[in-house]
Amino acid sequence: MLVDTHCHLDFPHFDADREVTLERARGAGIEFIVNPGSDMESSRRAVSLAGNYPDVYAAVGIHPHNALSLDAAALTELRALAQSPKVVAIGEIGLDYYRDLSPRAAQEEAFRLQLDLAAELDKPVIIHDRDAHADVARILEEWSNARGSKGGWPAGVLHAFSGDRELAEAGFRWGFMVAIGGPLTFQNARRLQGLARELPLIHLVVETDAPYLSPHPYRGQRNEPARVTLVAETLAALHGLPLAEIARQTTTNARRLFRIK
Ligand SMILES: [Zn+2]
Repeated sequence: MLVDTHCHLDFPHFDADREVTLERARGAGIEFIVNPGSDMESSRRAVSLAGNYPDVYAAVGIHPHNALSLDAAALTELRALAQSPKVVAIGEIGLDYYRDLSPRAAQEEAFRLQLDLAAELDKPVIIHDRDAHADVARILEEWSNARGSKGGWPAGVLHAFSGDRELAEAGFRWGFMVAIGGPLTFQNARRLQGLARELPLIHLVVETDAPYLSPHPYRGQRNEPARVTLVAETLAALHGLPLAEIARQTTTNARRLFRIK
């Protein structure tokens, strides 16, 4: 059994075949998926999907692209939504300096407000970091120091990890796990593969980020949760371990991360 720790099943890409997509995931041995929010509307949809399907959990949060939408009213709604059953995290939140769709100061403000919300509710966070490693590290380090040992462990996950070993190890010190997705399977992904081989399995989870980042040989197509298997197979090959062992460890990690019994 595997867990897809990051799948946007609520996105319109799945409107025509959401049920069938979930069925294929079940058929591929996916135990559950976590659907993060990217704005208010998608956070609401994630909560409603989690209510409809036993194997879907939700996270609620405002993606850095939509940072300007996090006003006081949105934060209040997010706080209420986060307390719905099956909301297992705050996310995805963070910084995106690659597309820079929101002013950086607004991204940082929304990121900090949502980190504080997570600390207040004692929920783990799902971090989006694109081309913003230094600032994400600075903010998470401060947050982690302020939170001290009060917060639960794990503190969260560095989703679609694209940093180096130093950032991963800093993340482990702050109580974070690292999530690996489809890019691990790309034929030109030697750097990420080298890193994934070195990182201890007790800190790793797998994800798809569907509908994005479809693994090889489906690169460029719409991704779906069943394909997290391809990520796990690549990780198994890199670690020289049977797939069953990778599945067992990453599923244990995912349950710990999202505090799912
Ligand atoms: Zn995502």
